[in-house]
Amino acid sequence: APQPNDLRPVIEADRRHVWHHMLQHKPLETGDPRIIVEGKGLKVWDAAGREYIDALSGGVWTVNVGYGRTSIADAVRDQLVRMNYFAQSAGSIPAARFAEKLLEKMPGLSRVYFNNSGSEANEKVFKMVRQIAHRHHGGGKWKILYRERDYHGTTIATLAAGGQPERAAMYGPYPDGFVMVPHCLEYRRQWDDGSYGERAADAIEEVILREGPETVGLLCLEPITAGGGVIVPPAGYWERVQEICARYEILLHIDEVVCGLGRTGTWFGYQNFGIRPDFVTMAKGVASGYAAISCTVTTEAVFERFKDGADPMAHFRDISTFGGCAGGPAAALETMRIIEDEGLLDNCLAMGARLRANLEALKEKHAVIGDVRGMGLFQGAELVKDRATREPVDEPSIARVVAETAARGVMIGASNRSVPGLNNVLCLAPALVASAAEIDAIT
Ligand code: PLP
Repeated sequence: APQPNDLRPVIEADRRHVWHHMLQHKPLETGDPRIIVEGKGLKVWDAAGREYIDALSGGVWTVNVGYGRTSIADAVRDQLVRMNYFAQSAGSIPAARFAEKLLEKMPGLSRVYFNNSGSEANEKVFKMVRQIAHRHHGGGKWKILYRERDYHGTTIATLAAGGQPERAAMYGPYPDGFVMVPHCLEYRRQWDDGSYGERAADAIEEVILREGPETVGLLCLEPITAGGGVIVPPAGYWERVQEICARYEILLHIDEVVCGLGRTGTWFGYQNFGIRPDFVTMAKGVASGYAAISCTVTTEAVFERFKDGADPMAHFRDISTFGGCAGGPAAALETMRIIEDEGLLDNCLAMGARLRANLEALKEKHAVIGDVRGMGLFQGAELVKDRATREPVDEPSIARVVAETAARGVMIGASNRSVPGLNNVLCLAPALVASAAEIDAIT
């Protein structure tokens, strides 16, 4: 472990000049910012020399293969000294290799478009759908449906497609054509007759009929809602969703930014449910936080709609400057190799089952845990004041649990402060390399 050393000048430089994400800086006028200086496996050390088990993979479910992977650093280095970057519509060796390897895991999909962040990957889908609407539907099928409590990113268009009103509250006005469908959290269900899955999907159909199916082009969903409260859709949901999309010719977009690359014990979250998506987006786990890379993946049928040699407006008129950085796919390729060679999908299933069993045992002991849910190493615990009424604990209580857990050396997360009154879910998503001892220590 690194020793506390003289990082005072760095801490002061950070305090004076760095604007941290998602942080109220007022308390930092007197306290120190958190600076993480080193990591190995699941462990990280901060500038004060404190050691933590990171139970959320870099704070936002990203570092799937754990910290300190020299083979990924080597792969990126080798690529960068040979060829770091070239745009001008050109490809790169690692991009082609990674695309081929990725698509081996994604039957039915055949094209990868490279970008840098989850938001960007999602916004590319919206642009593709809008271009298809203009060119192939005479301006119809331009609306984008998204689900209450889901999150798809931080840009204006992805916030317009965000089901967490508090996140979007300060940044409007938003573009037209984004329409919300109801959530599918069974614990807080609207119906209680055993048909929740089908009925939650039927609620989507009601929105489509209300809007007019000829206006709706895309349904954008997380396979398991992450920051909105770790919501695994109930039985019967996905089959019905797929039927509805087919019936009204609506493209289905699965946002795998969190679940992608192994988080649930399968390569992708949607593969747990037998879904056949038209678009899949991924970011965080793709290179496990070793490089900024995201992908928008689609079918040959979608891709073909952008081909027409005679018309300069036919191709996808989009660019991403750093979507051409060759370090990203080099890191991603090595990340996939590690997941395969080290059997991390199996470890994710085994350790996920252990984490789940541990959480269920905690639930038996502590009435404050109202619900435990998730898949693989992606688990949540919903905290309530009263199990019978399911009244959520308040936000200061959740914040205290997270802070006191960190004080005991384990970093966990909580659902976003973005679903008013319901930000009461503890989030656990350790790296896929977690050991049984680490899972038990986290619990
Ligand atoms: N989609 C989901 C499901 C996410 O959880 C996130 C980020 O947390 C995003 C998209 C946005 O990704 P990024 O922050 O890389 O833009």
